[in-house]
Amino acid sequence: MDYDVVIVGTGFGGSVSALRLAEKGYRVLAIEKGKRFAPEDFPKTNWDLRRWMWMPQVGMRGIFQMSFLEHVTVLHGIGVGGGSLVYANTLPTPKKTFFEAASWSGLADWQRELAPHYETARRMLGSARNPRVTRGDEVLRDIARDLGREDHFHLTDVAVYFGQAGVKAKDPFFGGDGPDRVGCTFCGSCMTGCRVGAKNTLDKNYLYLAEKRGARVMAETEVSSVRPLAGGGYRLELKASFGGERAPVTAQQVIFAGGVMGTVPLLLSLREDAAALPALSARVGDSVRTNSEALCGIIVPGGKEDFSRGVAITSILHTDEHSHIEPVRYGPGSGFFRTMVLPQTSGADAFSRLAGAARGVARHPLDWLRAYAVRDFARESQVLLYMRTLEGTLSMRLGRGLYTGFRRGVVTKLDDPASRPRSDMPEALDLANRFAQKVGGVSATLLTETLLGVPTTAHILGGACMGKDARSGVIDDRHRVHGYDGLYVIDGSAVSANPGVNPSLTITALAERAMSHFPPKRS
Ligand SMILES: Cc1cc2nc3c(=O)[nH]c(=O)nc-3n(C[C@H](O)[C@H](O)[C@H](O)COP(=O)(O)OP(=O)(O)OC[C@H]3O[C@@H](n4cnc5c(N)ncnc54)[C@H](O)[C@@H]3O)c2cc1C
Ligand code: SF4
Repeated sequence: MDYDVVIVGTGFGGSVSALRLAEKGYRVLAIEKGKRFAPEDFPKTNWDLRRWMWMPQVGMRGIFQMSFLEHVTVLHGIGVGGGSLVYANTLPTPKKTFFEAASWSGLADWQRELAPHYETARRMLGSARNPRVTRGDEVLRDIARDLGREDHFHLTDVAVYFGQAGVKAKDPFFGGDGPDRVGCTFCGSCMTGCRVGAKNTLDKNYLYLAEKRGARVMAETEVSSVRPLAGGGYRLELKASFGGERAPVTAQQVIFAGGVMGTVPLLLSLREDAAALPALSARVGDSVRTNSEALCGIIVPGGKEDFSRGVAITSILHTDEHSHIEPVRYGPGSGFFRTMVLPQTSGADAFSRLAGAARGVARHPLDWLRAYAVRDFARESQVLLYMRTLEGTLSMRLGRGLYTGFRRGVVTKLDDPASRPRSDMPEALDLANRFAQKVGGVSATLLTETLLGVPTTAHILGGACMGKDARSGVIDDRHRVHGYDGLYVIDGSAVSANPGVNPSLTITALAERAMSHFPPKRS
């Protein structure tokens, strides 16, 4: 066998697995479709599409992909370090309802069992309280006051090194075992990649330490097939991401950690292939969830206020037991999303949404004219991310459709139209309007939401969920794939309930728990 364990993907689940298995003496290879990035490789703004976006067929080899599906637009990350390269660093812990959700509570006492692993995950990811209050936080606190919920507002815990701004320091996290770091300059560019070296991306903690302990990372390579070998173990077929050849590799065990948009389509195709993994559970692709998010942008023309300074997400307001809202930002100059926004409105069909948007513009035509003409979209707008724990699931399947360009690819189906992820949530609209009123702005959203009613998520989860057997889930509560020895799913697709908040800390904690069940390699 070439390796003891091959890991498909280097996001949160993959990086935790790589480190912990290398520490336990396994020969580990982690394979990553995207590129490896040094701080200076990240784009200065998101107008540099070649460095920011992932669309390799047209030469874009960046860290951010938008996948347009029938019922949801998914934002996700790519590269050595997975979603950590592009994410907004926020590390909240979900509420009790997540651990006690009926979808998985029968399998373990999740809150008790995960508690120590959340602690480890926070320490490893370098979680720290955001020290800088921005204008967006002041406004959100004001809204909290109006709602009688000031006690439910706080600054975020984020995976950022807050040393001396812009000053290099010897590894502050791992007693000298980790890389040198540079203090955060509050430049706001976390979601286009940190060019400073302050963001605690996985290549600066878990993956860095894993490679130091002998794990190998193969970038720019996609795993296209996994087939069992007659005498045990698996053979993985590889494809070079940007052309060229890659020889197959063999491994005793395989961990699927490609994130929902990588793992679920791969498992669906392996299930269809009689020589690959036909005995996978029929539940592959079921129970795909979002955080039931709504993304709004409050555009404040005039340039008097600068909303682009600070880390990407600076505070959170828990608006009720199951809902949260966070102010989010891009760094100065990052105005790509101005090409994709329309007035925010609600309505069940495209006609009523468009009519609502037109009414909004007609009521304040000058404001909208100025909003579309702002000089720096990032400085003059505040993104608001609204999320809630309420369930709404989809199924992912392989098929052809408008969104796949009539080629074979991932399509989505609604499980229950009544509980589908929605773009028009009156609570979110109300909060956005309150914010807009306080800052003298207008409230916009992505045109896919206004035109098509399709919500956007940066937090896609599920699709390879847990169950006690293959009839009820794809994996068991230790992430072992039902029906195949030595296969595991350890990433966002294994998250089997809706955390209702940004999920990376939870994926990390789950991966730490899964790894705690791996014995050290026998010499
Ligand atoms: C703009 C943005 C902001 C976000 N902000 C936050 C935040 O503030 N807090 C938070 O908690 N979460 C945030 N998220 C979500 C977070 O990034 C994801 O939840 C998280 O990265 C998922 O982790 P994962 O382990 O499932 O895999 P991922 O991190 O998605 O990594 C999977 C990796 O596997 C690779 N891969 C996939 N298939 C293959 C294959 N076949 N072969 C080889 N490689 C493969 C992919 O290229 C990718 O690098 C944000 C996401 C986005 C897009
Ligand atoms: S605010 Fe700027 S310096 Fe700080 S972590 Fe984000 S990108 Fe890096």
